[in-house]
Amino acid sequence: MDEDTRALGILPPTHSPRATEYVPQMLDLIAKLEKKGLAYKAADGDVNYSVHAFKGYGKLSGKSLDDLRAGERVDVNTGKRDPLDFVLWKASKESEPEEVKWPSKWGIGRPGWHIECSAMACALLGEQFDIHGGGADLQFPHHENEIAQSEGAHDKTFVNYWMHNGFVRVDNEKMSKSLGNFFTIRDVLKKYDAEVVRFFILRAHYRSPLNYSDVHLDDAKQALTRLYTALKEVAPDGKALDKSEPHAARFAEAMDDDFNTPLAIAVLFDLANEINKTKSAELARQLIALAGIIGLLQRDPRDFLQGVPVSLTGVAAQGEVGSVSPSMRSLTGVEALGAVEELIAERIIAKKAKNFALADRIRADLLQQGIILEDKPSGRTEWRRA
Ligand SMILES: [Zn+2]
Repeated sequence: MDEDTRALGILPPTHSPRATEYVPQMLDLIAKLEKKGLAYKAADGDVNYSVHAFKGYGKLSGKSLDDLRAGERVDVNTGKRDPLDFVLWKASKESEPEEVKWPSKWGIGRPGWHIECSAMACALLGEQFDIHGGGADLQFPHHENEIAQSEGAHDKTFVNYWMHNGFVRVDNEKMSKSLGNFFTIRDVLKKYDAEVVRFFILRAHYRSPLNYSDVHLDDAKQALTRLYTALKEVAPDGKALDKSEPHAARFAEAMDDDFNTPLAIAVLFDLANEINKTKSAELARQLIALAGIIGLLQRDPRDFLQGVPVSLTGVAAQGEVGSVSPSMRSLTGVEALGAVEELIAERIIAKKAKNFALADRIRADLLQQGIILEDKPSGRTEWRRA
């Protein structure tokens, strides 16, 4: 996972806590809840959270306890006072392995599914923090239960902003192993440049479903090529981002509105169009600086256009794995790049010798391999991938 997130240019987390290292904090939290009348030990030995005792239950998912109870069946064997009460501490069965047994004042057991998040978040981020993320499927009951636990214990707002991301869909169907349309980041990176994948993800709003298809990836590649092409001929002026410039203001406004990356990226295209018309070095600087905020357009435009793999300088330095995944290395192959340069040199010699048939054949051969040659007025020949 670390290698794959690094490949996409995602910064590593500051903390990666393990639930098993926070059992004492979980037990403290449960004890607090019990003391406040929000938790009780049931006849079956489990310690449960009493949802009706917490006034705000259902506020995140926008449901009342009655709505939520409809459809729930009361299982008389659980010892729960309410079918929506959830387990904070699960009593161990004799048969369970020793490594999932911890002592507690309620008996030997293991933590429930929800308490670990409240305990770890509180230990590392405090009783109140700004942003909590997670998949849309976790909103209920998991995040609702986190709120009940944390706010019940600490009497303050747990999280200021909840960010729930949509699911990945493949050709408009849910991605799942059983449907056979399941693949990994590594599979995708064999076919597509990591920055193209990142761009594709950011072009959708994080709350909406992300529809994966090769058509969309190809389209993302074309779009990113347009941005890099605008930067190919115009060098930035080297100054810092001007935040008061109109494009920068619109970009900030879009990002301040619940991370509206599709709108922010639309601003980048406006900038690219302006650069194509005006060849403005100031606007080139603005484009690179704004795109850099969302981790895009930080490579030499020629490298991107020629298909040189993304180099994740700085990010990769923190890990032991190389900056480019092996799959990507074989995709573009530095040897292959050298061969292109050699053929270009051969073609220039052929042209000088007025052997235009050979020059044309080299161009046609390269085109067949997806490489487009561009003869510049200066006499230089540049190339890019189709
Ligand atoms: Zn959680």
